[in-house]
Amino acid sequence: MPETKETFELLKNYIEDLPIGLMLFSKDGVILSWNKYAVSVLECTQDDFKKDYYCHVTNQVNELLHSEIVKEKELIGLSKPLKAKKIITDDKNIILVITEAHQEALGEMSHELRRPITNIKTLTESLLLGAKDDPEIANKFLQQINGEIDRLTKLVGELINLSKIRSGKSSQAKKKLNLKSKVDESIKLIQAIADKHKTKITNEVPNEYEVYADSEQLDHVIQNLLENSIKYSPEGANITIKSGPVTGSFQVDDTGIGIAESEISKIFDRFYRVDRTRAKGSSGLGLSIVKNVVDLHGGKIEVKSKLGSGSSFIIYMPIG
Ligand code: ADP
Repeated sequence: MPETKETFELLKNYIEDLPIGLMLFSKDGVILSWNKYAVSVLECTQDDFKKDYYCHVTNQVNELLHSEIVKEKELIGLSKPLKAKKIITDDKNIILVITEAHQEALGEMSHELRRPITNIKTLTESLLLGAKDDPEIANKFLQQINGEIDRLTKLVGELINLSKIRSGKSSQAKKKLNLKSKVDESIKLIQAIADKHKTKITNEVPNEYEVYADSEQLDHVIQNLLENSIKYSPEGANITIKSGPVTGSFQVDDTGIGIAESEISKIFDRFYRVDRTRAKGSSGLGLSIVKNVVDLHGGKIEVKSKLGSGSSFIIYMPIG
């Protein structure tokens, strides 16, 4: 049987102009062959590829190539977000298939939007067909419809945020920000939700502590993490936000339900929710937006969690 590299070269004429990027690597991650589309979509030149250099996404490509767990990854920081899928061949070479992420995202989104709409339609039809005559059932169905509408509203709002953030790389205005006052502002905005859940949020960020970030996007990250900590904690829980282990980092600690180790790698995926039945008014988009923002800043997120005890989300932002 021919080796993958030979096959790749034989097919080169056919794959050269395909509208998907194809890159073939040795098992050690050295590039062996590629098609034209891969070069253009990664916004590189043929010479860059020859030097194992993939321009803005070099680190992201290497991370995917060398990870034993991650099979696909969104490549961001280019003018269009891309999706890279990893295929290991029989002779242990690696093929990366690169497509435009929005094609896939559109499919997922229409699926996610269709579900609450179908549920609303079914519940409304049942009411019209007679369920409305039984006050107890009618009340239950109306509450369900109300819940589905909340979910739809949140989904649409977050989709708008996600597309704003994705297209916002060029408009990112990074500067040094006083984290303590940013956190105070965010707490003020979500205090009502915290009070409703009888949750206490403590701002332990030191007075002069600075984070280098886009102001609006940082608000988004802080608010999302705090809202999650409230949502996934029982009443009476304590949430603390403080500086993190290294300069420019910060963390949100909660005493909530925690996340199983097997789930941690999935919670940043679009639409992923650990417990779909419990998560009311949730869209599964919040953390994917947080990760997008942090990636666009060149930072990273770490999660430490124990089921039943609580979670810590640590954000590492470059110091500028
Ligand atoms: P959403 O909260 O809208 O479902 P997210 O993307 O913000 O979506 O979170 C994805 C999943 O991660 C949540 O459904 C929840 O299961 C889990 N999660 C997020 N934050 C926490 C937290 N602080 N404690 C426990 N689980 C969490």
